[in-house]
Parts: sequence; C-alpha cells; structure tokens
Amino acid sequence: MELYPERIEAISRAGQSLGISVLPTQRTTASQMLGTLQAQAQTLRDKYQAYYEIFVRPATGFGSTALLQAAAQGGFRVLKEMKEAVPEKVSRMTDPEEIIPAVINDNEGMFQRGEIIHFQMGIFQYSDTVLGELVERMVSEKCAYPAVAADEVAERTESQYEYPIPRDLILPAVKDRIYPGHLKDMTKDEIFEVIRSGYIGISWIVSPYFLPGFTDRETQHLDKTGIIENDENYVFLTFDDWGTDGTVDRLLNVLDKHHATATFFVRTEYVPNNPNLLRAIAAAGHTIGAHSHKHMSLSNEVRPTYFTELDEQQRKELEEDIILCYDTLQNVIGDMVDADGKPSLSALFRQPTLAVGRNGLETVFDCGYTHAVAGYYTTTDYKAENAKSLAAEIKKNIKSGAILVMHFSDNAKYTADALDQLLTEFESSGSPYRFVGLNKVLS
Ligand SMILES: [Zn+2]
Repeated sequence: MELYPERIEAISRAGQSLGISVLPTQRTTASQMLGTLQAQAQTLRDKYQAYYEIFVRPATGFGSTALLQAAAQGGFRVLKEMKEAVPEKVSRMTDPEEIIPAVINDNEGMFQRGEIIHFQMGIFQYSDTVLGELVERMVSEKCAYPAVAADEVAERTESQYEYPIPRDLILPAVKDRIYPGHLKDMTKDEIFEVIRSGYIGISWIVSPYFLPGFTDRETQHLDKTGIIENDENYVFLTFDDWGTDGTVDRLLNVLDKHHATATFFVRTEYVPNNPNLLRAIAAAGHTIGAHSHKHMSLSNEVRPTYFTELDEQQRKELEEDIILCYDTLQNVIGDMVDADGKPSLSALFRQPTLAVGRNGLETVFDCGYTHAVAGYYTTTDYKAENAKSLAAEIKKNIKSGAILVMHFSDNAKYTADALDQLLTEFESSGSPYRFVGLNKVLS
C-alpha cells in the first residue's frame, strides 16, 4: 500500500474488492496482529473507499494462532483457499501458450460451488499479462457459476450454513433416524411384511435367481411394477450416484426451468468434498434419498442372471455403510425443507445396481429406511449417445405413477438435455403429467 498506491487505486477503480494479506512471524502476538489489521483496514477504507467487509488471508498456510485470535477479536474474517489455482512449477515458464494449458490440465475438473480460488498476483515472473488471460480462461472453462468477490457472498447470510449442521438445527423428524434394530423382536412373517410393503421393485427382478433368500411364495408377493398408483398423474424422476458441479448444475437448471422436482439418491462417499453441491440440490426443492456410501450391493452377482445372499461379514459392512450414508446426508441437509415444508432428507433408499436379496433388504429396513425403491424403467443414460434418442427412450416409459431410474453422474452426459427436450415437448402438447419428488407420496 505504501509502495504502489496507484496499483491499489486501479484495482479498486475497476470494481474489485480489496482485502488484507498478512504474514505473521512466529513471534507476532495477537495484539500486534490486531493493530496491523486495524491500521490496514482503516487505510483501505479511507484511501480506497473499501465500504464492504474486509477479508484477511494469511500469505501462506492457514495462519498462526495469533492471526486467528486477532481476526476473531477485531471482527475480521479469515479466508483460506480450497485450491491454489496456479502450481509453483509453472512460475518460471514464459510462454502463455505453454503455461495456460499446463495450469488448466493440472486442475482436473470443475471449480466447486462456493470454492475460494487463490491466484498469487506475483507468480508469473516473466509476464504481466498471462495471469489475466489465465483467470479469464479458467472462469469460462472450469466454472459453472459466476465468479464473484468473497465479500459479495459474505453479505448473503441466508445462503450460508455451518458444516456439519449443528445438532440442534437438525429437524426432529430427520435426526438420527437410521440405526440398527428396527426389526428387533419381529417374527419372520412380520419382517417379510415390512419388506413387502417397503420394497418397490422392477419388472426384471422377478425370478428367485434375482431374489435370493426369498421363498417362491414370498417372491410372488414382492412388487415388480415400479409404479406408485396415484390420481394426480405424478411421474417420479430419480437420479442416482454423484457428480460434479457442471453436470449437476445443468440438471438443476433444466428441472427448474420446467418446474419439475425429482428425487436424488446420493452415493455419499464424495459428498464431504463438496457439501455445497448437495445443499444446492436440496435448496432447489428435490427429495434426497440414500444410495449407500460406497455403492454397496444388497446381494452378490454370481452371473448376470444369478444372485446370492450377502454373508454375515458383508451384511455387517452394508449396515455400517448405509448408516454412514444417512449421517453424511444429515450433516449437510438435516435442517432443510422443500416447498411443501417437508424435510428434504427422506428415509428412502435406492439399492445400488437395483440388485436385492432377503438379508440385504432386511438390513436396509432394520436400519430404519422406509422404502427400497427400484422403478418402472431404468435408463442406461450413462451409455446414451445423444439426447434425442435418450429423450425418446424416456418418453416411451412415462406413465402415471412410473418411477424412472436415471443418473446425475458425469457419465450421464445427455440426461439434462434429453429431459429438457422431453419436458419442452410435454409442455407444448399439454401433457397431464406432473414431475414430483417421491416424498409427495412416500414417507
Ligand atoms: Zn448407482
């Protein structure tokens, strides 16, 4: 600020926010640090009209205890990037044509919703323009959202949350709902009745080979329709697994555009890396269900047409996995409700690969899940070659009450476009169908 006031002036004039970067030493005390922060903030306000909340970031690492104490005392917020955008190893390169692809390829994948991205202003020692070009390219190619200054987001307190959700904010109807022992003390017949009433099957899971552990008689009583009868022309779009921001944001935009809500069955293993994305799905009004933590199956596939039951060890692993799955969801969206005021987090379960077996299903219901949901039709949208044929395939299988199995993983490349085409067509032809989340009819 002392050496180059005109540069800071220029940044401010261009509409960018200014913050404070500090490098406390081992011996800096909290009160010295506080003095520094306050003096610098004062200068930013007086000289550069910084009327917004001023952020502090440690020049390296997370910052000393002194910095954190001083920030807490002075009401400053400390920013820490999730990702250093430019790796040190490119800093000595001189050719932008070489630097930019190297950095873009180094940062695999999209930036995440809410992610704080850090660029070191002085990193490129041999070019004054490459940093600007790089920022422009990264924002357009790797970011599904607008890039904004941190202080702009800081003002929107209604869209912020504490993660994990504090225990006292988790809705009572949702809190710790999944734990073992729900079938304790029940007879075998009573347990079968729980399975029978909670299992929603699919047409090809019919024979005893696909339903290990069930008697022939029991097999006859299990659902094979994947349909929930209703008088409202409800159709249930469901999406499985997990994806990245570009894919999910596109899907959410399409559903929003057509006023459709859906059910997302989340494989939770990767959720802790990107809780904002799950939060965004729930905030858009969709039902959230469980799809296990690590995609564990409810039976063993010996051949594609022959399945066996889980052994005791597998059953125990499944139990731990599906409890962890729910807890992971609860930690991110346990406080959220949809447009009807119902909790976003349901106790619905989607069995990975749709395979089932008696003791696998017993484990799911013993943990307190209310339904194990397959569907009327499962798309192979992750193998689709274009949106048009996928839209036609989905269209053929839509009828009142039908549950459609799709994916929100990155390999389901055409799912959003196919739905956009289909729902646009339905709207113009006055279709009676209403696309809603499963919590409209199941609880
Ligand atoms: Zn899956």
